Amino acid sequence: MPRIGLFGGSFDPIHFGHLLVAQAAREECQLDRLFFIPTAQSPFKLEASLAPASERLRLLRLALAGQSSCAVDDQEILRGGISYTIDTVKDYIRRFSTGKFFYLIGADHVQQLPRWRDAPELARLVEFLIIPRPGEMQRQLPEPFQGRPLKGFPLGVSASQIRERIRGGLPIDLLVPRTVAEAIHNNRLYL
Ligand code: ATP
Repeated sequence: MPRIGLFGGSFDPIHFGHLLVAQAAREECQLDRLFFIPTAQSPFKLEASLAPASERLRLLRLALAGQSSCAVDDQEILRGGISYTIDTVKDYIRRFSTGKFFYLIGADHVQQLPRWRDAPELARLVEFLIIPRPGEMQRQLPEPFQGRPLKGFPLGVSASQIRERIRGGLPIDLLVPRTVAEAIHNNRLYL
């Protein structure tokens, strides 16, 4: 039975925090494949205006180049509108009927889980892997969700911090892969 990890997020832009999470999940949970699934519009960040989907996808593909166990899935972007995890998970179940599914979630989002669309059904379909974030308490999953915490490598970096540094003219070279930093610079993103 393939062990499949699903990692949803804005990825605006992808950074080393995300990539270290992916590594931890693959190693600690013996994932066969890990899909990065950029959201079209998060139901919890409705006011946020994201970089164009095509740019976020480009940066993801650059960051994951050569990592054969990882892939970018653009289904939420193609569907458009508000992205609901339950729709994406059901699509995976249709495609990989024999898979075991793990959904990666930052410790900062765990308390919100009961408010996710169709929460009881989602809780039956996936196991959650909780990603530690510096400054966030390690929280228990609310009922009826199941899962376990990852050890990490917790890294205190966020996409909003990176966007702020770009606006402030500060370097981001140590926070994102070199190819990602170059593409952000060349395409004048986040200025
Ligand atoms: P923003 O700062 O724009 O809110 P973010 O960096 O928190 O963005 P998202 O792309 O929205 O990132 O996050 C996707 C997922 O990755 C979320 O579950 C988030 O909690 C998690 N995540 C983001 N950054 C880190 C990090 N440094 N360490 C662990 N998990 C992270």
